[in-house]
Amino acid sequence: MMNCWIEGSENTNFSIYNIPFGIYTTEGRSKRMCSAIGDKIIDLKVVAILGVFDLLNIPMPIWEEDYINDFMTLGKEKTSRVRTLLQEELSNPNSVLKTNDQVFIDKDAVELHLPIKVGDYTDFYSSIEHATNVGMMFRDPENALLPNWKHLPVGYHGRASSIIVSGQDIHRPKGQTKPADRPPIFGESQRMDFELEMGFVIGKQTNLGDTIPTKKASEYIFGMVLFNDWSARDIQKWEYVPLGPFLGKSFASSISPWVVTLEALEPFAVEGPVQDPKVLPYLQYSGKKNYDVNLKVSLITENGDENILSRSNYKYMYWNMEQQLAHHTINGCNVNVGDLMASGTISGKDESSFGSMLEITWAGKKPITLKDGTTRKFIQDNDRITMKAYAFKDGKRVGFGDVTAKILPSL
Ligand code: CA
Repeated sequence: MMNCWIEGSENTNFSIYNIPFGIYTTEGRSKRMCSAIGDKIIDLKVVAILGVFDLLNIPMPIWEEDYINDFMTLGKEKTSRVRTLLQEELSNPNSVLKTNDQVFIDKDAVELHLPIKVGDYTDFYSSIEHATNVGMMFRDPENALLPNWKHLPVGYHGRASSIIVSGQDIHRPKGQTKPADRPPIFGESQRMDFELEMGFVIGKQTNLGDTIPTKKASEYIFGMVLFNDWSARDIQKWEYVPLGPFLGKSFASSISPWVVTLEALEPFAVEGPVQDPKVLPYLQYSGKKNYDVNLKVSLITENGDENILSRSNYKYMYWNMEQQLAHHTINGCNVNVGDLMASGTISGKDESSFGSMLEITWAGKKPITLKDGTTRKFIQDNDRITMKAYAFKDGKRVGFGDVTAKILPSL
């Protein structure tokens, strides 16, 4: 075990075992790269000036860029070492970090920004519980999964421009919907929903024509974020045939401000579910490739009440990240640093672990009652949705920043 001299940090999501990466500003400082420990953020430029990373020859401007993309491009040999060098300093009672009062800043005094410039965004559909629930609701309860589902990780290309950082509120989208028995209408979405997801960030590019085998996928995956893939179910329902989701999805997706590295998640690796039927050779993998990450979704009403809607876990995923990336590139599609690939809604086995309002209220048929006595089928204006995620094992705690946003009235 590592002993960290930052008091109280060991029981937080940002223990010495985490050391995530992000971008912050504070009064008098423009955007800079940062990490976190306990309730403080770590200014990486100041740490670099103190010489902690000298042996890595990292160009100083990297620490002052608007996104961590160029940092990720340095390669894992360097970025992993940055993380372990920080861990060494944070566990060294005589650390040089104690000599400068600019290294640590209280989280309350900073603003965290979108950490990555997202190039392309892909959304998978890899939770068997979620896909089964949706199939039961909208298709055949006896044959909920479509014939391809257990043979390939189904996905679609999403919209990168509207990916926003936690804390940025969004307005209820408008669009075209189709009431039953009436012609289509235009107006505010009446079925605003969240999707509880996690996403992984590409840290190494490929060239057009290259494929990434499962056994090499971890070289290309820099780390993970917590992700709310907002959905306007009524817009989506009318528009998605035959090509898939479009405006019901592209108005916004929210990510956590911290990118947690794959190295930090390694202690929480677990076996995935048995895949039956056996998958094709290019999708086969070995080792523990799922991760035991506890997930929680709350709806916070205007009076401040927290209503827990779901407790799920990333370990339920049927298809893992290595399989998703191998499938994504098997046709020669190239990936770039900063690409984001989301898991798809992460539902567990029972309704306390469902990852969307669609499932929790079974498409609005079973409204839920909140602490203030009001009911919800979907998200109302001024409801805040907050997602939290952490892993814990053998005294080690690694968490993600919250993903929170309020749904404001339509513009
Ligand atoms: Ca999704």
